[in-house]
Amino acid sequence: MKKRKIKKLLVANRGEIALRVIRTCREMGIEVDALYSDADRNALHIVHAVSSYRLPGNTPQETYLNIPLIVDICKKNKIDAVHPGYGFLAENADFAQALEDEGIIFVGPTAKCIRDYGDKLVAKRLAAQVGVRGVPGTDEPVTTLKAGLKALKEIKLPVMIKAAAGGGGRGMRVVRNEAEFSKDFKMAQSESLAAFGSDKVFLEKYIEHPRHIEFQILGDQHGNIIHLCERECSIQRRHQKLLEEAPSPVVDRKLREEMGTVATKVAKSGNYVGAGTVEFLVDRKGSFHFIEMNTRLQVEHPVTELVTNTDLVREQILIAEGNKLSFSQDEVHVHGHSIEVRLNAEDPLRDFLPVLGKLNRYLPPMGNGIRLDSSAYEGYEIPIYYDSLIGKLITYGHDRMSAIRKMQRALREFIITGVKTTIPFHQFVMAHPDFQKGKFSTSFVEEHFSAKEIKRFLHSKDERVNLRDVAVATALVYHLSQANVQPQVNPVEARDIHRSPYAMRHRRRL
Ligand code: ADP
Ligand code: ADP
Ligand code: MG
Repeated sequence: MKKRKIKKLLVANRGEIALRVIRTCREMGIEVDALYSDADRNALHIVHAVSSYRLPGNTPQETYLNIPLIVDICKKNKIDAVHPGYGFLAENADFAQALEDEGIIFVGPTAKCIRDYGDKLVAKRLAAQVGVRGVPGTDEPVTTLKAGLKALKEIKLPVMIKAAAGGGGRGMRVVRNEAEFSKDFKMAQSESLAAFGSDKVFLEKYIEHPRHIEFQILGDQHGNIIHLCERECSIQRRHQKLLEEAPSPVVDRKLREEMGTVATKVAKSGNYVGAGTVEFLVDRKGSFHFIEMNTRLQVEHPVTELVTNTDLVREQILIAEGNKLSFSQDEVHVHGHSIEVRLNAEDPLRDFLPVLGKLNRYLPPMGNGIRLDSSAYEGYEIPIYYDSLIGKLITYGHDRMSAIRKMQRALREFIITGVKTTIPFHQFVMAHPDFQKGKFSTSFVEEHFSAKEIKRFLHSKDERVNLRDVAVATALVYHLSQANVQPQVNPVEARDIHRSPYAMRHRRRL
């Protein structure tokens, strides 16, 4: 295995993850370049890259997913390596192959690995070969209604129809009623085709109220594979993660060792190289079942970095250069507790409707135990073409309750006006007794959260919310005075702030 030092790296992504990669490259002394679409011409990642190349157009298809154009930029600018971030081309085997063909390093696994694990059925087969049990289901794709009904009889209701190529919580349907199977099956096939370009679907037993627990994996090009413990990602909506933490409140040392060993086995079964994630569902009896492996850096990787004191992007780059893993399994220890919340430009009071607009005021929290991975800034306008994630707020404490308290403090301190965000949702979760006790499953949001509940919470006599209102008002007035504006709220700002649910009760005070 020949080592190759990366001198110039291109980040083929946008938003917070582009910045995340740029930061580590800077620390490692790697020259780092970036890409931007027309809609992203005012993006923060451009400011911090050494050079940035324009991708004409706005849609993902014409810009961040444009393989020929990106490969061409690499060739013209003598790029040694490309980091794909997550989403976009991160799990695109053709992209990895196209770079490999040009002698450019793809910071990630081989094209073959991406292809194998990218198909949930192939991944389950690889796992089964090394004795790892997945969620019970069909081994093969289900192509006809007849075969589907036969499988349904064996697996028994409820079942889940899943797209083999699915991702991002899409391409899944729960079936609870046999009479509806035929409709669901056809819908699942056509949705899968539309979203992932393949109508390959399969059936899996639907596990009621499971916990989603995943393991961070690192594998080098010399065949060494280790895990960096688990992340708890059960707080989801429509099968998409909203907040994550490490370690999991239900994983003890013994279970961690057991699941970690199984996770490494899954990665070894396909000769995995790079950073990856092995995902499991843990049922109510405490048994765990493999569901899939993601062949990329995950959105929620910072919680692992904080509790294991690592930099996963750095490890990815070192692996891509051909180095051996810089630490062994015995050297991985979990210290303290970390929680990440995804800050989306969505209105939690209106069924998480994505919102657009400009961040008129943006004053992020700071201080002990806070990490903010975000590409937002005051005046930033959210483009309509990409996802609604504006950042990730992460806290670290010596134990779970201290991480929760820090998160509550940070959420209260966070001032964003101009667009609705998921901050109130996260405040609701942090204050919920079941969340605090660690008693929850992937059904938490469905069971406990509604517009009515959150309104009640926001208007309750709860001290936390009151304090937040005062903080918003005080900081806003301070901010306006700093900006040489009269230290009183002008009508535009007043309208913005009054629109925010936190301030509703305090109109007069402002
Ligand atoms: P998970 O896929 O387990 O939810 P992440 O939340 O880390 O993991 O997903 C990373 C990002 O990539 C998210 O924005 C998600 O919506 C997106 N994503 C993941 N897989 C796909 C896919 N196959 N197609 C489109 N988007 C995807
Ligand atoms: P994706 O590729 O979209 O991330 P996953 O297979 O990882 O798809 O599943 C995403 C989420 O969907 C899980 O975290 C879980 O909440 C739910 N889910 C997936 N499979 C099952 C199942 N068999 N039973 C119950 N819930 C499931
Ligand atoms: Mg998943």
